[in-house]
Amino acid sequence: MFSNVYSAAILGIDGVIVSVEADINDGLPCFDMVGTLAPEVREAKERVRTALKNSGFYLQPKKITVNLSPADIRKSGSGFDLAIACAVLTGYGFLLPEQLSETVVIGELGLDGSVRPVNGMLSIADCARERGFKKMIVPAANAKEASVIDGIDVYGVVHLSHIVGLLAGIDNMEPVKVNLNEFMEDDIFPYDFAEIHGQTAVKRACEVAAAGMHNILFIGPPGSGKSMAAKRLPGILPKLTFDERIKITKIHSISGLLKENEALVRNRPFRAPHHTISSTGLVGGGRFPKPGEISIASGGVLFLDELTEFERSTLEVLRQPLEDGYVTVSRLHGAYVFPADTMLVAAMNACPCGYFPDRKRCHCSEKAVSRYLSHISRPLLDRIDICIETETVSLISQNNSINEESSSDIRKRVELTRKLQLERYCGEDYKFNSHIKAKDIEKYCALGKKEKEFMQKVFETMQLSMRAYHRILRVSRTIADLAGEEKITTRHLSEAVCYRGFEEKYWS
Ligand SMILES: [Zn+2]
Repeated sequence: MFSNVYSAAILGIDGVIVSVEADINDGLPCFDMVGTLAPEVREAKERVRTALKNSGFYLQPKKITVNLSPADIRKSGSGFDLAIACAVLTGYGFLLPEQLSETVVIGELGLDGSVRPVNGMLSIADCARERGFKKMIVPAANAKEASVIDGIDVYGVVHLSHIVGLLAGIDNMEPVKVNLNEFMEDDIFPYDFAEIHGQTAVKRACEVAAAGMHNILFIGPPGSGKSMAAKRLPGILPKLTFDERIKITKIHSISGLLKENEALVRNRPFRAPHHTISSTGLVGGGRFPKPGEISIASGGVLFLDELTEFERSTLEVLRQPLEDGYVTVSRLHGAYVFPADTMLVAAMNACPCGYFPDRKRCHCSEKAVSRYLSHISRPLLDRIDICIETETVSLISQNNSINEESSSDIRKRVELTRKLQLERYCGEDYKFNSHIKAKDIEKYCALGKKEKEFMQKVFETMQLSMRAYHRILRVSRTIADLAGEEKITTRHLSEAVCYRGFEEKYWS
């Protein structure tokens, strides 16, 4: 007998519906699987056969053929197990075809028949709803995540044997309902700017960067609090909206980073990959394209500590995604697009020993310093809006009696500035000051006569490239917004110029 059950695969960050067809016939007993399958999907037949036996289903020895279609998608992962088991059970008459007609079935099977969680459930649920399915049967550990999507009934199961009872209506099971408000509150962020004493300039640079989503680079000697400041940046970024949470959760779920029984991510991502990471690990790719760190950090911070330790070629692949806000991975069967809407935060020493330009402590030769700095290419530097020097924290600045401003206070100002930008760019295809297109600079960063003259002087003395000039204007837009001023003044411009000054100091 022939049967058909719906399941789903993940392509890039989207779900795709897959038909699992089973044909049970008289003939030499065997279990064949076809349909462009990855090795782990082929192995499903062993898991399914054993799980069915251990769940108490007696199957007469017959010729079983399973086909996963469409055939032009290569199927990977272990999420098809449950659907294959259901298709076989339907073929043998344990289930009726109409019981599964409007249902998507997903889950990995253990040999004892237990149903185990799979990655990418939110994308699958989204796709199932769009395709008009009414019901989903998923592993219980994934049920909350799937039920975030409105308009589809989600049933969580822990064992294969539950499915028969559920579909026959014997087990009175209610669809899982999730209270989204529970997941809309942020977890308490473990790091706070109030813990950093002094370092006013660094804190200010962090605030400007967060407010306009500008990429930022910290340069300074070891122990000057570069990573300390970077780690606190997600804490001053605005609270996540529902749509942002959905987007981030999809990527985290596909990457296997969503905790069991969680419906949505709680905080903005903070990713700090080690400097030994490969280009594929950083921007995504692989035989079955998976999102890289830059995509996982989307909506949050990608922190590259010890920037000069990264392979130069690895850093270079970041250039395009940082400019475009997405990564395209091309494969034989098509192109995959992953978001890369992240804030790049980098930290580095200025020389091999770390103490340059403090000549009392640094004995590196001029040549060694310039070779060290040249590891970071000009085009990559061009994508960094703010560059700030950190200084070794002295005992005087660790005066505990001064009440430092907390992250939540800084965040309030950042949120106000972000709101302003959202309103201003409502008709554009970007949301932040850092993303203003070159053609719109005149429109959104208009300068008065005095300001134009000031910038003319800066342009000549600093020998700026056009790209760097635009970057200064974008940063001054954010500084003006933070001050609640519509007009960009020389005060805003000079602060923005300062953030480029260090680049001249080290790289010119
Ligand atoms: Zn040195």
